[in-house]
Amino acid sequence: MKLIILDRDGVINQDSDAFVKSPDEWVALPGSLTAIARLTQAGYTVAVATNQSGLARGLFDTATLNAIHAKLHREVAQAGGAVSAIFLCPHGPKAGCTCRKPLPGMYYDIARRYDVNLNGVPAVGDSLRDLQAAATAGCAPWLVLTGNGAKAQQGELPPGTRVATDLSAVVDALLQEA
Ligand SMILES: [Mg+2]
Ligand SMILES: [Zn+2]
Repeated sequence: MKLIILDRDGVINQDSDAFVKSPDEWVALPGSLTAIARLTQAGYTVAVATNQSGLARGLFDTATLNAIHAKLHREVAQAGGAVSAIFLCPHGPKAGCTCRKPLPGMYYDIARRYDVNLNGVPAVGDSLRDLQAAATAGCAPWLVLTGNGAKAQQGELPPGTRVATDLSAVVDALLQEA
């Protein structure tokens, strides 16, 4: 199977320093839904891995997060694509969990769920911690310059990280190489 792993905030939708706390605050980035649709139509299984510490911080509850993700799935479907599953870390930074990026726990969960080897699986993020988690798990890290991406670009990127303007540009490159 062809698998791709996407971060959510700053890759698919606008990020917010104040957290995305409601369906209304979840706003797709220009071109991201179409980019996912192109992946789906090219045979990719699209999985999302997202830190959602807003749950631990009490900024929103699980029902609200489910409603946000229902909107995500609905808008992706309307664009002609599909997100197979959304993996999330609900913990805060001090919980000591193994799923919060930059740790790779969610990526390993994804590998188990789909029974795939992650070597070379593209993993797209806008923050250094996405790329670190991806690299640790053996994925091929891609940095997009949407969301926090411009800031992250100034940090020390894991070796082999590729940089693209946005998710559409990642998809352009992947489909061109296929
Ligand atoms: Mg992000
Ligand atoms: Zn966690």
